[in-house]
Amino acid sequence: MIIDIHGHYTTAPRALEAWRNQQVAGLADAALTPSPDALKISDEELRESIEANQLAKMRERGIDLTVFSPRASFMAHHIGNVETSVTWARLCNDLCARVAGLYPDNFIGAAMLPQSPGADPRTCLPELDRCVNELGFVALNLNPDPSGGHWTSPPLSDRHWYPIYERMAELDIPAMIHVSTSCNACFHTTGAHYLNADTTAFMQCLTSDLFKDFPTLRFVIPHGGGAVPYHWGRFRGLAQEMKKPLLEEHLLENIFFDTCVYHQPGIDLLTKVIPAKNVLFASEMIGAVRGIDPQTGHAYDDTRRFIEAAPTLSDTERRQIFELNARRVYPRLAAALDARQQGAAR
Ligand SMILES: [Zn+2]
Repeated sequence: MIIDIHGHYTTAPRALEAWRNQQVAGLADAALTPSPDALKISDEELRESIEANQLAKMRERGIDLTVFSPRASFMAHHIGNVETSVTWARLCNDLCARVAGLYPDNFIGAAMLPQSPGADPRTCLPELDRCVNELGFVALNLNPDPSGGHWTSPPLSDRHWYPIYERMAELDIPAMIHVSTSCNACFHTTGAHYLNADTTAFMQCLTSDLFKDFPTLRFVIPHGGGAVPYHWGRFRGLAQEMKKPLLEEHLLENIFFDTCVYHQPGIDLLTKVIPAKNVLFASEMIGAVRGIDPQTGHAYDDTRRFIEAAPTLSDTERRQIFELNARRVYPRLAAALDARQQGAAR
């Protein structure tokens, strides 16, 4: 089985964006604020948006199941206040839940949180609970920088975030550390801000003892871990200077990297440096990089072929990356798959 742990609903019907534009207009003139009920999207429209896009590519590439969350750049937690984000997150999560309901074999949800700059993370807990307990979601996306590129929140190791970690432990779900749109002109959203955040999140964990406080906490750092695997020597050396344990015991029980790296040499390095048990298959399709690589003739985000071709991986390790690690890191995903198999066997 091949599980892609990183997909977003980037192809949602235009009505969603129109509703959001109206919500943003309402911040300047409250009379314009739309009711959540004003968003009307039929199952037929959802099917059209998925079948011609994500599902077509999954079938073409042999991907069975995608952990599916709202479009990351649209989370835009910096817009408005907590109430703005609460309403917006709920609508976006509901759409992902409906897609998972229409295609239960192919999609399972991961929650967007209603974060807002300066807001207490506790304000996210009701939506997180709803997504996991009512919608059957198996993970969440945690934005370490709700300000959108200005980094006004404390580091992920700060007690500020602990209410979310406590709930993650209770629910037994992992978080993908995922920023949203950059509103800092210095940082291109997907080319700089995303990769900066991946690297920054890792270093925040390295310098802290977060996982002593939360031994079962699991973070998935996307986009191949940003600069982390490439600079593994630097991180090992810094940890040594800081008298931290070896990274394997300090961080690798809790931190995982996905395979959203869009060329073979990058995947070769990732899989050579990072133990296979810490690498999870993902493509972030349909996402940031949609073109065809003229050097290979294949889509940049067709990452499965890179894992197949990575020279240092054994077949057992490939199976870990494609399926087994996802089951281990996302126990609710494993439980959903097991329940499905038992249902089919009956
Ligand atoms: Zn993403």
